[in-house]
Amino acid sequence: MRNEEQKTAGTDRKCLSFFETEVESLKAEILRLLRESGSYVSGQRLCEELGVSRTAVWKVINQLKEEGYHVEAVQNRGYRILDIPDVMSKEELESLLAGKTKWAGQEVYYFPETDSTNIRAKQLAESGAAHGTLVAADRQTAGRGRRGRGWESPSGCSIYMSILLRPKFLPAKAPMMTLVMAYSVAESLRAYTGLDIQIKWPNDVVLNGKKLVGILTEMSTEIDYINHVVIGVGINVNMDSFSEEIAKTATSLRMEMGKTLKRSTLIAEIMRRFEQDYEEYVKTGDLSGIREAYERLMVNYGKEVRILGAQEPFQALALGINNNGELLVRKEDGSEEAVYAGEVSVRGVYGYV
Ligand code: ATP
Repeated sequence: MRNEEQKTAGTDRKCLSFFETEVESLKAEILRLLRESGSYVSGQRLCEELGVSRTAVWKVINQLKEEGYHVEAVQNRGYRILDIPDVMSKEELESLLAGKTKWAGQEVYYFPETDSTNIRAKQLAESGAAHGTLVAADRQTAGRGRRGRGWESPSGCSIYMSILLRPKFLPAKAPMMTLVMAYSVAESLRAYTGLDIQIKWPNDVVLNGKKLVGILTEMSTEIDYINHVVIGVGINVNMDSFSEEIAKTATSLRMEMGKTLKRSTLIAEIMRRFEQDYEEYVKTGDLSGIREAYERLMVNYGKEVRILGAQEPFQALALGINNNGELLVRKEDGSEEAVYAGEVSVRGVYGYV
């Protein structure tokens, strides 16, 4: 199975001819120049800056139009982008990330369909892919959550992405990364939508008491070092409905805002934000740099929660988190405890939150 999967990932890339690869990167560059200018860019300038012929530029512009980009061409002025649809592609992501991050998403792998972006990212990790490599897909056929649960992953409406990290610290510190990602995603979505998006400790991002984002962190470690970490993020962006099973606990940005959002733009924004938060976390070696801000976003802060997991379920008051990302709770007998995220789920006393 493993070899089979590796082969598929490899073939997808190898199937592209040299010419197609050139067109791909030219497309990303043209998109970047048009986007950055926000106005007309002459065909002459595109040719000169990119060192290609007029015909090559013209062909790429036509391809962009076919993909749904609304590009206007005016004689003596050049090309201008009027509207960018909700396109997910390697080129779109690359053009949005160029110059915006140092390492997060600087290498992009995009799949119209794949089993799970975490599986792809882990395979890429084993074949030497760089720290920060981003894997994104339009649809997952085997989207996964924690402890073997599934993640509903239909096409054309959501974000499924994984980032590969190669941290230099000890394995014990790695679980905190999942809280860093939850924080970065929540802050990015709040800034982008203006909605009161919150975090359900440790790593669910919620809106109006329903789950908007799921995060799955997986790692490969030795006793004293980390080979790699993969953080997978599933975001319900433009979904209109969910299966009956989760309809009461799941929501999407579109269902809350009534409008369609651009997934690639959101991905780029999250990569930018995560790079910044991750660097702060590496600098301090714990969550001290984001702890207070994380707590301000906690939906269960100062509330009675039910802890389900490793031991007998119990009810307690959530007091916040410590610098290691553990949930601090006061039990009914007055004793205080730090709950480790790995094994447990947290629920509200009366429902999901
Ligand atoms: P929880 O605290 O909700 O138990 P978890 O971290 O243990 O969270 P996850 O692994 O994040 O669970 O997510 C898997 C669960 O999320 C599934 O069991 C299902 O109930 C729910 N789910 C599956 N797909 C989606 C989706 N697209 N949107 C929201 N919820 C989903």
